[in-house]
Order: sequence, then C-alpha cells, then structure tokens
Amino acid sequence: MKAVQIVKPDELRVIDVEKPVIDGKNNVLVRMTAAGICGSDVGIYHGTNAAATYPRIIGHEMVGRVEEIGEGVSGLKVGDRVIINQVTSCGHCYPCRKGRGNVCDNLEVRGVHIDGGYREFIAVPESDCYLLPDSLSDEDAVMIEPTTIAIQSCTRAQLEKDDMLLILAPAPGQHDPEDRQTALRPHHCGRHRG
Ligand SMILES: [Zn+2]
Ligand SMILES: [Zn+2]
Repeated sequence: MKAVQIVKPDELRVIDVEKPVIDGKNNVLVRMTAAGICGSDVGIYHGTNAAATYPRIIGHEMVGRVEEIGEGVSGLKVGDRVIINQVTSCGHCYPCRKGRGNVCDNLEVRGVHIDGGYREFIAVPESDCYLLPDSLSDEDAVMIEPTTIAIQSCTRAQLEKDDMLLILAPAPGQHDPEDRQTALRPHHCGRHRG
C-alpha cells in the first residue's frame, strides 16, 4: 500500500509499505479517508519539530472507515466511520493510572514519534477509535482534533458567558509549529468580568 513518508528533513516521498495486520492489541484495521495537514506536520517536514524522529509517516488528524475488526472488538463494526486518537499511552504509569493518558510518561504520538495516518490503512486499538456521526463529513471530522485543543483550553480557563477575553498569541508560523495550541492556552488568556 502507499504511504507518505518524510525520510529526513526536507525530503518527502510516497513509498510502498506493508499493509498492517490486526493483532490482539491493534485490533481494528482502518482504511484512511482523510487526514489533516497540521502546523506540526510542516515542522516535521522542515526538521524543526524537536519531538519527531525520522523516517516518519506523518499525519495525526486521522479519519477513516473500519475495514476489519479482530478479537475483542465490541463497539465497532466493519463500515463504521471513525476518528483515531493521535496519542498512544502505556496504561500503567502514574498519569495513566489517574486517567490522564494524554500526559503519559511513555506517550507516543502517531505521526510524530510513531507512524501516523498518511497511508492507506492503519491498525489501532478499538479504544483509540471514536465513532463519527453521519452529519459530519470526513473532511470536517479531521478538524475535531484541533477543535478539542481549543475546547480544552476554554474549559480549563473556566470561561463563562459575557466574559471579556484578551488572547495573546503569535500568528501562525511565527512561533512554534504547534501555534494553534499555544494560541489558546489558558495562561495566555486574560479574563475580565463585569
Ligand atoms: Zn496537529
Ligand atoms: Zn502511561
């Protein structure tokens, strides 16, 4: 099958790779239908993303259709449309035990530390798949991941109706590659009420 790989900074290739096979852990095979191009993907391409390792199949905003299910899958069936969690966590470190797999000590991000979704198929655990409603197109669903970052920031800032905000942030491309995240981190928000 085909995949898009950044071999090393400034060198991107379409390559042939083995189609993934499901197993006891990665028990859902997803046929990719859409993937976002994030600022951090551009950073990986240019070699400015400190977390990325090479060669790397990029793509961490991943939408697809369930192609095959394996042992133990109970909540998904072939044909379901899903978005895939970009973060993989170990499940046994302190943050994971506290239900905070997003800051796992052994965290690996698909498309950054391990291969991501710019390929025809990807095998992932059922627990990393989220069902999509029919009302959302694949292309729009790709934006769920960036949107969750903004929602999380607003939630942690405890915003309420009629709050007045000052959002301080660099314009895209002028700061770090994850500037969408930086832009809405709560500590950059000044809040004024009244
Ligand atoms: Zn991103
Ligand atoms: Zn962990």
